[in-house]
Amino acid sequence: MAQKSRNEIPEKYTWDLTTIFKTDNDFEDNFKKVQELSDKASKHQGTMATNAETFFSAIESSLAAFQLLEKVYVYASMKNDLDTSDNKYQGYIARVNALAAQVESTLSFVQPEILSIEPSVIDKFINEKPEYQLYKHYLDYIEKKRPHVLNENEEAIISKAQDVLSSSSETFAVLANSDLKFPEITDEDGNKVPLSNGSYGLYIESYDRRVRKEAFQGIYSAYGEYKNTFAQTLAGQVKADNYLADVHKYPNARSAAIAENNIPETVYDNLVNSVHDHLDLLHRYVALRKKVLKLNEMHMYDLYVPLLDEPPVEYNFDQAKERARKALEIYGDEYLEAVDHIYNERMIDVYETKGKRSGGYSGGSYDTNPFILLNYQDTLDDVFTLIHETGHSVHSWLTRKYQPYVYGDYPIFVAEIASTTNENLLTNDFLANSEDPKLKAYILNHYLDGVKGTVFRQTQFAEFEHYLHISQQNGTPITADGASEYYGKLNSEYYGDSVISDPEISLEWSRIPHFYYDYYVYQYATGFAAATTLSEAMFNHQNGAVERYLGFLKSGNSKYAIDTMKEAGVDMTKTDYLDKTFAVFEERLNELEKLI
Ligand SMILES: [Zn+2]
Repeated sequence: MAQKSRNEIPEKYTWDLTTIFKTDNDFEDNFKKVQELSDKASKHQGTMATNAETFFSAIESSLAAFQLLEKVYVYASMKNDLDTSDNKYQGYIARVNALAAQVESTLSFVQPEILSIEPSVIDKFINEKPEYQLYKHYLDYIEKKRPHVLNENEEAIISKAQDVLSSSSETFAVLANSDLKFPEITDEDGNKVPLSNGSYGLYIESYDRRVRKEAFQGIYSAYGEYKNTFAQTLAGQVKADNYLADVHKYPNARSAAIAENNIPETVYDNLVNSVHDHLDLLHRYVALRKKVLKLNEMHMYDLYVPLLDEPPVEYNFDQAKERARKALEIYGDEYLEAVDHIYNERMIDVYETKGKRSGGYSGGSYDTNPFILLNYQDTLDDVFTLIHETGHSVHSWLTRKYQPYVYGDYPIFVAEIASTTNENLLTNDFLANSEDPKLKAYILNHYLDGVKGTVFRQTQFAEFEHYLHISQQNGTPITADGASEYYGKLNSEYYGDSVISDPEISLEWSRIPHFYYDYYVYQYATGFAAATTLSEAMFNHQNGAVERYLGFLKSGNSKYAIDTMKEAGVDMTKTDYLDKTFAVFEERLNELEKLI
């Protein structure tokens, strides 16, 4: 399909960024204003212990600088996303990044200065005026770090080493993305084509088995060549994580990483244990795949080819909005009102145009609309993308409506819950209201693939990541052979006997960038499972389920994520929500087995 230029797209299908800043000149004025706000806030350094007024002025003036900084950042990055080849906005982004680094360093005194004041004095400050109560949770969040923060000099020395400590992950990125040479493979039409990290994702899904096998063997021949180097970059990252946890007096890297969101470690262990208890379901799904694909032998490169053809239903964008809105009616008026604002007031950039960023996202800041970027193409999967991003945008909308800036965002731990719950509601709606068995099978498989990729696979990663950190901490050095042996064993355990654990898969650890994100991946799995439980409760009209869920969307950062979810109806320190997800998975697997 020929890419259109922006002036060929009707205005109503484009987003309106003049609602952020009318002109680029306004951007420039606000850019300067961020610097002024930051300078103004920095004058409070050293005054916070004086009295309640100086204490809260320092906090409020630094928040004001960050608030405007975010707005300026969003303008630059969204302008750039519309035409990533435009040098003007690339320049804007570079300038905003430099500004952000400068503001962060100027205002980095706030947290250590708060922690240099006795907790009893801070309590006294909070109780001096009713309006200071607002900051109680914000200060509690900082207070929790007190046992782990060193004195100012020591923290300064550690923070000066940050660049050095992140060099392993940078080396990984450069090696994997620019130095590594991948072999050519032959595509479906017989053409020689270059393999890359990006194109691998497409070729591994090829309906032509020869193509996906060549892609699989090609990618791992390239990574295998440098497996010892990749083991070293990964070891460097693990050592840095362990070192930072150690100097900040955490028992291990995992507890340091998840303490950031105040998540108990049992959440992580429960996830791993519960997934292990239900691996038989993944084995059954893999066996079904083998049967549907009519394979005598199934290999690891047969796990990503679409199991079913996408049904020949098309939704143009206006129909998609209507379809999504219908599935969301369950939430009631307040949610739908937010959806209508987002769908009807030019907050979505719908179609692919020349130079536009690929994929889809929801983005914005406290003082902008919650925009959505799409590359919409009328498919059923695109309807799922729309309802997913709508979930993020309404979450932002309601959080900003009910929370002040200091709590006007939400942690990653809960972010994907708001989007995935919407996808599940659409899944439920399709399953309940469609007669076409082909469509039903496709929808069932869409969900099952989601659990496979998000709950099972990310937990496999989480388990591996934790194993590496603990091994290193206990004095076992990370080597390519050691990592591969463990990964290969884990992989066979996860996927079962129906699939041949090809030797190449043992090297999968070497190419996964998420292992450099410090205990990030488990949140994909917990979020997906929580979303299944929440959407089932609402779809089955459980008493109060919708109100509880809306309460979560409105709470932002005003509470700890684990408490927010508990109030929404999911206790993520227990395993019920995981059991529920596996029960739904099993039910849908049974249904799909019957249909095909
Ligand atoms: Zn998302």
